[in-house]
Amino acid sequence: LEFLQKHDPDLAKAIFLEEQRQLKKLELIASENFASPAVRLTMSSVLTHKYAEGYPGKRYYGGCEFVDMAEDLARERAKQIFQAEYANVQPHSGSQANMAVYFACLKPGDTILGMDLSHGGHLTHGSPVNFSGKLYKVVFYGVNKDTETIDYAQVEKLAQEHKPKVIVAGASAYPREIDFAKFRAIADSVGAKLMVDMAHIAGLIAADLHPSPIPYAHFTTTTTHKTLRGPRGGMILSSEEFGKTLNSQIFPGIQGGPLMHVIAAKAVAFGEALKPEFKEYQKLVIKNAQKMAEELKNAGFNLVSDGTDNHLILINLTNKNVTGKEAEEALDKAGITVNKNTVPFETKSPFVTSGIRVGTPAITTRGMQPKDIEKIVKWIVAAIESKDNETQLSEIRKEVEKFASQFPLFAW
Ligand code: PLP
Repeated sequence: LEFLQKHDPDLAKAIFLEEQRQLKKLELIASENFASPAVRLTMSSVLTHKYAEGYPGKRYYGGCEFVDMAEDLARERAKQIFQAEYANVQPHSGSQANMAVYFACLKPGDTILGMDLSHGGHLTHGSPVNFSGKLYKVVFYGVNKDTETIDYAQVEKLAQEHKPKVIVAGASAYPREIDFAKFRAIADSVGAKLMVDMAHIAGLIAADLHPSPIPYAHFTTTTTHKTLRGPRGGMILSSEEFGKTLNSQIFPGIQGGPLMHVIAAKAVAFGEALKPEFKEYQKLVIKNAQKMAEELKNAGFNLVSDGTDNHLILINLTNKNVTGKEAEEALDKAGITVNKNTVPFETKSPFVTSGIRVGTPAITTRGMQPKDIEKIVKWIVAAIESKDNETQLSEIRKEVEKFASQFPLFAW
């Protein structure tokens, strides 16, 4: 940063301030994490200079022998972690991984069955504002009103009724285990392909703490930067059978030159995921989330599905008479970063919402333990209760900053 300060002080200032924000605040956004120094170093390496359209051994540019080594490492490690036959590590993002799978098995106008955004699904699972909702006919399933867990009977009924070509399982805001075997049985009963988007829970699956979709899904997609704790990016896993078509959908289908520095950083992160410490880290992510759920419930908060099996919690704030937007703003002033989130059967707009989503991947990477979670929940409760009291919020922020300063960004 010192070098950058001399070279480009304006930009250096933005990075410095963002680093301070990350250090001083508590990051509870469930989709965020802190990558290791090795992952970050690799992203800033000379590999960013290289054009390498194509795949290892079959490139459209000369001089690719060393970036081939990096991409091969990333692919082999990904296959080893998830026990998959095929891996494509080139998607620039999770959205592009999903797009490539859709392009591999759908024509415009075909039907997808995906999870409703307000019940926990992702934009790329068929939202009308996303390409997936614009190009395809979409039918949505959701959660059961009583249990707030996936309504598999509804999935089956909708599948029979609409005969989708692709069924999408996986979510951005779903705190419970997903039954991939059930999804596959439903897909088979109507001749659909099953795509599992494991973006949020990929790290837990890598550590064997959530059942793997690989034996059941025709296609598994993920981001690499959430619980998996790598650089920002995407990946597709599948059986060898679909390898050729998936490769061509990514390049030349929807992307040009792969980001070789990011692919190399994926290799580093996958190497880390193969180490025993990674499993310990993921165990602690879940333990911290469960502790947080318990403490929040003790403080009178309603949790969607009444708890969590994974790294995230969805809080329904309706009984607290506060909107998701208000809670997000109050918590931010108190030094705690969360996102407002719709809850199942939402009545408010996505800009207001009745809930917030919180997660433990990032604070666990900083080394925080269940005993720290107790303190964090006390601050969350106090901030929401004093949402209109600026003095109180700034008092909490001072305490949070002092506490957070004891933890580096990456402690493992
Ligand atoms: N799939 C799921 C389930 C996600 O939660 C996300 C991101 O939030 C994505 C896909 C998209 O990933 P990206 O932001 O890399 O496009």
